[in-house]
Amino acid sequence: MPSTDLSNDIAASRDDILKQLASVADHPVELVAVSKKQPDERLQAALDCGQRVFGENRVQEAQEHWQHRRDIEGLTLHLIGPLQSNKSEDAVALFDVIQTVDRKKIVRTLSEAAEKLNRFPHLLIQVNTGEEDQKSGVLPADLEELIDYTRATYPGELKGLMSIPPVDEPAGPHFALLKKLADRAGLPWVSMGMSADYELGAKLGATHVRVGSAFFGERKTA
Ligand SMILES: *Cc1c(COP(=O)(O)O)cnc(C)c1O
Repeated sequence: MPSTDLSNDIAASRDDILKQLASVADHPVELVAVSKKQPDERLQAALDCGQRVFGENRVQEAQEHWQHRRDIEGLTLHLIGPLQSNKSEDAVALFDVIQTVDRKKIVRTLSEAAEKLNRFPHLLIQVNTGEEDQKSGVLPADLEELIDYTRATYPGELKGLMSIPPVDEPAGPHFALLKKLADRAGLPWVSMGMSADYELGAKLGATHVRVGSAFFGERKTA
């Protein structure tokens, strides 16, 4: 496909998503374009149509995608995948927002890295609202303690909560729960909703939606 067609396709998807968000929510909703496993020409097409906020799952892939573009005006990078403590310094060096904090050890290593690099990404805590065994995220019952710990020790700001509902359940109740937990803790940001359900997320109070395939097209599966 010639790159002008690609640019037109991505610009049209983006316009469509932004229109949907504006029509379902009367508060601003940030569109985080999830660029994991997308070819470089699509990233460039997204930049060309004005998109500046991107989400990535893996630190190393994010470095490959964005390190050489870090100076682009307004570029804002969100880590939305699980973080290992030995990658904390790389994550702090690259990302502006880390959405997947889920245990004290990660708060500790992020705090150390932030002090060392003098860079203070905003943090979100990932909540395992479906209480699934295999899923990362703190259980709702343990959230308050992790919020208190993060607020007391992290030298930057804890901004909000994020969740990925179970694939086999309606997302609505999980989104409503996450919004309630954020309100109760006085946290302003709520990251919820992906390609299949970003309108619902926005309707139920998301301040950030994470949209990959509906924005860029299908990902490489390898
Ligand atoms: C991949 C991913 C997304 C985007 O998924 P789509 O269904 O392609 O929109 C959103 N959030 C997280 C945490 C992801 O890993």
